[in-house]
Amino acid sequence: MLFHRYGKFTGGIDLPEEKQATIDEPISAGPLPDELHVPLNYSDQMPPASPAVSPGQAISRGELLARATQGGLDIFAPANGVVRDISTRDITLTKLRGQSELLAREPVRDWEKLSAEQLRELIREGQLPTFRRPGEAIIDWLEEARRHRSGQLVINAMEDQPFVTADHRLLVEHGPEVIAGASILARAGRIGQVTLAADQQKTENYQHLTAPAQAHGLERVALPRRYPIGADNILLSVLTGREVPCGGKAADIALAIIDAASCFAIYRWVACGDRLAGRVVTLSGPGVKRPGNLFVLFGTNCHELAAPAEGPLVIGGPMIGSVASARSVVGPGCDAVLALEPTSPGVATQCVRCGWCRDHCPTRLNVAVLNDLYELGHVQPANLLGVLSCLGCGVCSYVCPAVLPLTERMRQLKKSLHALPGRDRTAEEKFARHMRRRGTRRRWLARRKKQKQRTTNEH
Ligand code: SF4
Ligand code: SF4
Repeated sequence: MLFHRYGKFTGGIDLPEEKQATIDEPISAGPLPDELHVPLNYSDQMPPASPAVSPGQAISRGELLARATQGGLDIFAPANGVVRDISTRDITLTKLRGQSELLAREPVRDWEKLSAEQLRELIREGQLPTFRRPGEAIIDWLEEARRHRSGQLVINAMEDQPFVTADHRLLVEHGPEVIAGASILARAGRIGQVTLAADQQKTENYQHLTAPAQAHGLERVALPRRYPIGADNILLSVLTGREVPCGGKAADIALAIIDAASCFAIYRWVACGDRLAGRVVTLSGPGVKRPGNLFVLFGTNCHELAAPAEGPLVIGGPMIGSVASARSVVGPGCDAVLALEPTSPGVATQCVRCGWCRDHCPTRLNVAVLNDLYELGHVQPANLLGVLSCLGCGVCSYVCPAVLPLTERMRQLKKSLHALPGRDRTAEEKFARHMRRRGTRRRWLARRKKQKQRTTNEH
């Protein structure tokens, strides 16, 4: 069997696939825009870098544009060009030259001969963000996994949202590089087991991954598609049976999870010496004239990319994405730009206590009660009801017959909780510690069981 099969999770919804327009479209070069507006940080959670160039300066692809400030990452030029303008949020490059494509490159380093320390040093030098959470540097994510002695690295290639096919095409066309990138991370973080989790309906397209997976000792898992199985916490619980603690991270239960695009970027940097310049973006939706999967340079304006599209543009998928503003640009977290049909959301009414939000919530939150707390302005009790484990998946808003903006309200509750001045974290930390210990005990029991079996077989 090529892929092992695993279980399901409670809740969630079956969404229409809507991927047929782009699923077989090979990755092609995105248009080279007139200007790139390269942000000084990869996300709002990251402090902006300090510009290291001046207006009028000619710049080459991969050259330093801005130097990281405390807790941030360096920003590099995605293309050859000239600096036109520097603002507090971005650097504008003009007179762009070259191609906005994923350049085919031969490996320049034999990374398999490098030690874990040397690999970590290289990854630190690469200054890459994780693509799914662009506020986090890959090296910080890796160090955290190492500190918590994570024993398993999961490559999340589930891509469970309608329309989005960027990671699928990356696996079809560059799967061996993605697997090599995952192996680099596993070796650098001293993580013993690597698992690639993919949609079971697409696995027939990944048969070419058998040899590289075997060569790198990578396990492959096929899972049924049910939204939001691609959410990191849900995927980990389906695969391992372990729950990420409320408001915690995968490292808290000795696991590590990352997306396919980040693995690919790591491979390109470590093996080929190619600085991060762009990413594969799915351009789709009923309003798009030429749907496809494009390699798009960071800093490309989303409206320019989708032109001449009709309807509102959504960045990052219809369930968890956000509506693009006139200044929105492509960054590491932007896996899709969709032109969707304008819909009227309807008028929100009173909660009718149908319970659908709770039934479908993948983390089993009592969303109706949390919504009451939001309406009453009671933030603290929401903590006890576990609002911090909300994934922001959008399922509750999708099913609510009263058209309440529940996901947004959960987000607001989380934000208010984080902002509380004297927030008591003791209970959360105790719970995280308990889960870590439970994980350690589970692994110890599994090891003991194996040893017993081995002894029985020998006798
Ligand atoms: S957005 Fe949060 S509360 Fe709503 S269904 Fe998803 S996890 Fe549950
Ligand atoms: S789905 Fe909407 S109407 Fe039904 S219980 Fe939840 S909040 Fe209330």
